[in-house]
Amino acid sequence: MVNCKDAIEALLPYLDGEMSPEEEEHLRAHLNGCPPCVEFVRTYRATSGLCRKALVRSMPPEVAGRLKAFLRSKLETK
Ligand SMILES: [Zn+2]
Repeated sequence: MVNCKDAIEALLPYLDGEMSPEEEEHLRAHLNGCPPCVEFVRTYRATSGLCRKALVRSMPPEVAGRLKAFLRSKLETK
């Protein structure tokens, strides 16, 4: 089973559709029981599709790290 840390690592490729069907199945199973991760996905998807694609493809490690930090803080705050 995927934990939140693994889910966070997998979220960006998942949202960009660059994940194997097996990995995606594991992540979906995690999202079914993890509202904070679902909320992050919802927030992320609410951004414009075109901007999102450009953002993900050219996302500097610094930004990706900030996204992960954001999700971690959500998980800790409940
Ligand atoms: Zn989670």
